[in-house]
Amino acid sequence: MKIYNSLTDKKEEFIPIEKGKVTMYVCGPTVYNYVHIGNMRPVITFDMVYNYLKYLGYKVTYASNFTDINPKITMAAETLGITEREVADRFIKAYLEDLKNYNCSEIDERPRVIDCLDDIFNFIQKLIDKDYAYVKDGDVYFRVSKIKDYGILSNQDINDLVSGSRVDIDEKKEDPLDFALWRKSDHGETFESPWGVGIPGWHTECVVMINKLFGKKIDIHAGGVDLKFPHHENEIAQSIALNNNYIANYWMHNGHININNEKMSKSLGNFILAKDFIKEHTANVIKLVFLSTNYRLPINLTDKTFEEAENIDNKIKTVLKAANLNLNISNKEIDNSIKDDKFEEYMNDDFNTPNVITYLLSLVKDLNAELRNNGNQILTLTSKIIRITKILGLLYPMPKLTDNQKGIYHKWIEARNNKDFNTADTLRKQLIDDNIL
Ligand SMILES: [Zn+2]
Repeated sequence: MKIYNSLTDKKEEFIPIEKGKVTMYVCGPTVYNYVHIGNMRPVITFDMVYNYLKYLGYKVTYASNFTDINPKITMAAETLGITEREVADRFIKAYLEDLKNYNCSEIDERPRVIDCLDDIFNFIQKLIDKDYAYVKDGDVYFRVSKIKDYGILSNQDINDLVSGSRVDIDEKKEDPLDFALWRKSDHGETFESPWGVGIPGWHTECVVMINKLFGKKIDIHAGGVDLKFPHHENEIAQSIALNNNYIANYWMHNGHININNEKMSKSLGNFILAKDFIKEHTANVIKLVFLSTNYRLPINLTDKTFEEAENIDNKIKTVLKAANLNLNISNKEIDNSIKDDKFEEYMNDDFNTPNVITYLLSLVKDLNAELRNNGNQILTLTSKIIRITKILGLLYPMPKLTDNQKGIYHKWIEARNNKDFNTADTLRKQLIDDNIL
């Protein structure tokens, strides 16, 4: 399997650190508000990656954090008139609820910053001891000039970063590129550290959590492309300083989301909350929108993209309903361990889900033909479609028919054959009401 590695800007053969096992980490949300559907793109993308790695037989451990200490959380606490802990708990709960409604996999670890403060203190102290960090007036900064590879992930020249407006100019820092590991603060919820009262910097928490959960290095570190700089670049800098590595062998980034050609953002007000979207559409629709484009490319959401996805969803839904009836009546069980070479070929090419969806539609077409002709490939094709859609994170329930429902079906066929159209219509209506026809 090949993965496009953002670190080298190349598709590379995937070789895990430990044979048969994969460790992966995806930067999670800052929990101060409800998430919008743009925030769901990394969730849906890396859920698909997680599912596929498991399909290949890897034992995968997937972690994603909650940033539950942040000035935005303090601001939300003030607006809502509750504590920072209450804000964090409320939006963690809402986020997990969203994931459930979007039929996302349960992952293995969800660490929170509040539970890692001692680890963060130890980590920062080690950086200070090795002269990679310095204390200035209650703040602690990372000394970027000591990392000669700085800019490796985002392919940026350090001089451009300084002259551009990408970094904060702060007189307290030795260098404009230096970033805060600990920030002095007396506003809102603060914590006592060896350097005084304040809050931890965002870039440190992910490195600390990865080291704590997995050790010095993982296989895959992922997130949205907007995190490449400065967040991921700064994670790498800290990992070079303490562990002499890039923290992950493979860095993966999903593209950003536009809505009607504008960046979807909370500040622009043109966002759709994940919890609102699901009231009008199914999770399948947004997943098909995202997965119909290569995960690395940007997506522009318009009414048309949703219509197209709804169309695909309906095609799959319709054929599977007919197949489910056929298999139930013939007492055949779906094969949940079926494999498919074509599917693997596309997925092994850096998770080429647009090709997978085209292939899925060809399977749908074949299955429709088999159902019309009552062919012998109905079970195989249905099993393949179910297995592939599950890995993509799409949900198509295949309910078992009760004996009573099967009885009604047989009576309907009998009435039709006997040209007893009144009875046939009544029975047919019953089957439609039960969502069988
Ligand atoms: Zn992170």
